[in-house]
Amino acid sequence: MREQLNARGVRNAFVALSLASIVSTSAGIARAAGDVPDYALSPVPSASTAQRSAAVSKFKYMFGAPARWPGAMHWRYNHASAPAQFSNAKDAVVQQIIAESAKWTAVCGVQIAYDGETTALPKTLAAGGPDGISVIGWQKPDLGISGATYLWYQTNGSSGLTLVDADMMLDPAYVTTTAQLTSTVSHEWGHAIGLAHSNLERTLMSGPPDSAYTNDTGLAADDVHGCRCLYGPPAGQSAANVCSLPEIVDFGTLSVGVASSESPITVTNSGNATLTISGVRTGTGDFLIGTNGCTPGASLAPGASCTFGVLARLARAGDRSDEVTIDTSEGPYRVPLDATGVGAPPAQTLAPNFEGSWWTAPAGSESGWGLNFAHQGDVIFATVFTYDATGKTWWLSMTASRLGNNNVFSGTLYETRGPAFNTVPFDSKAVTYHAVGTGTLDFSDANNGTFTYNVNGIAQSKPVTRTVFGNLPICTSATQSDLSAATNYQDIWWAAAGTGETGWGLHFTHQGDIIFATWFTYDFDGSPLWLSATAQKSAPGVYSGTLYRTTGPAFGTVPFDPAKVARSPVGNATLSFGNGDNATFAYSVTLGSQAVTVAQTKQLSRLVFRDPGTVCR
Ligand SMILES: [Zn+2]
Repeated sequence: MREQLNARGVRNAFVALSLASIVSTSAGIARAAGDVPDYALSPVPSASTAQRSAAVSKFKYMFGAPARWPGAMHWRYNHASAPAQFSNAKDAVVQQIIAESAKWTAVCGVQIAYDGETTALPKTLAAGGPDGISVIGWQKPDLGISGATYLWYQTNGSSGLTLVDADMMLDPAYVTTTAQLTSTVSHEWGHAIGLAHSNLERTLMSGPPDSAYTNDTGLAADDVHGCRCLYGPPAGQSAANVCSLPEIVDFGTLSVGVASSESPITVTNSGNATLTISGVRTGTGDFLIGTNGCTPGASLAPGASCTFGVLARLARAGDRSDEVTIDTSEGPYRVPLDATGVGAPPAQTLAPNFEGSWWTAPAGSESGWGLNFAHQGDVIFATVFTYDATGKTWWLSMTASRLGNNNVFSGTLYETRGPAFNTVPFDSKAVTYHAVGTGTLDFSDANNGTFTYNVNGIAQSKPVTRTVFGNLPICTSATQSDLSAATNYQDIWWAAAGTGETGWGLHFTHQGDIIFATWFTYDFDGSPLWLSATAQKSAPGVYSGTLYRTTGPAFGTVPFDPAKVARSPVGNATLSFGNGDNATFAYSVTLGSQAVTVAQTKQLSRLVFRDPGTVCR
């Protein structure tokens, strides 16, 4: 159930309780608060006439309707009752709180000013109404939570709601380390300036009821956008922004396998600079982009809009959810998608599964570039490993959905950039997606087809066929979710769930005792990098080989001359499979102009994007 936000009358006090990032009594359990909704918006007993205001926009504000500070927000600090760990560190605590406020003032037009110490106590609802002094201090908030922000506003004529007081309470029993202070206060500042919880996961303002708390300390794109929708960009700066996206697109109940009608999403540039759209995407095959008026490269002047459609076609019954992401020059905008599937899936045809490595037909005619397909349900996740205009490795990816009942799959081709392959931890939020065109795979039989694409304005079509170097496995939809029993490892793999390293991966094509591995990652400068290895079985479950970096003719070169492909050994890789859904990827590579040698080990699991995935045997 989604929460209903209420706003009431003039000069009413509302308490906006906000659980902080770290709420547990035991360290390390960051989400102990679970699904406890923390928006306890209730009127003080003296509340006058009620007025309702539901949160309907993408960015949710404390009182439904936007409420903002009319000028700089002034606050004072009260060190009384600070925990013993901070008792002699008052200045450091104040500096840390200021530093957390600066994360917000650096990215949007809100101004926050520290006015020194006070003996006034932060007020709760129970402790009376606003006193006009915004205090940050030490006191156990209501509900036994680690941090809370209490906000009061008044209506201010046609200019809407004006914040008048914000008191932030930190529980001295829980907030006892600098790390806890940082994660708690960075999040609470978001409430103090008027933001409610985001309904997206993995943002600083994530929290119940629609998302889970994080331990993040930095602002995600969604946090920045929300703040700018309230206050605009920092003074003197110009920026595009989109403030009128729907909070969620809910398709309701749909019959499994039947496409919904398109739900339009309008992207309006509410900022004061041009917005460039680089692409629109969904994450799973359950939801698809339809008619797209927000084409890659489209520019929206301030006030201008474009509209695209999104539709649902569910693979199975039950609750299905996803996000549509609009990649822009201001970072990604994400809108949750929801639908509930009912009924039985349509009878499975004996359509072939196209998973594996493919290249131009006839086989070998364009050796040096190719395609990998991970085929699950009615979706093929394709990676294209090729070369850019300078001959450097370049890779693209495409989530291609089946069109109708034929063996035709289509999708948007993306170039991604991200943190260098050796970065620890690998920050998935730093991965950027840039649509470069569209692709269609049209299969005439299980082993042959046509790859038609339009990339950066160049439209071409290539006959493609499977790459065969051993016994071709037969791949079918898995009969159960547990893939650990599989003994053929062909699939797309990624850093094991839990490490969250979304954005890079490996495709294994497994024929006989050989695995052809293509590793899709990023170079030291963040540009797309792929390396490949032909790994031979050296022991049960263990495959090893030399890693090669290649250079070759640019993608789309006609004719593509395989003699111009140069292969350089850059290291070695060992894949050790614990079972059919678990592998250790150990590698040592020497790359870059400085010839940096990197030796690392990663845990991998299969990437299942359509349950229950695919197995080959
Ligand atoms: Zn909160």
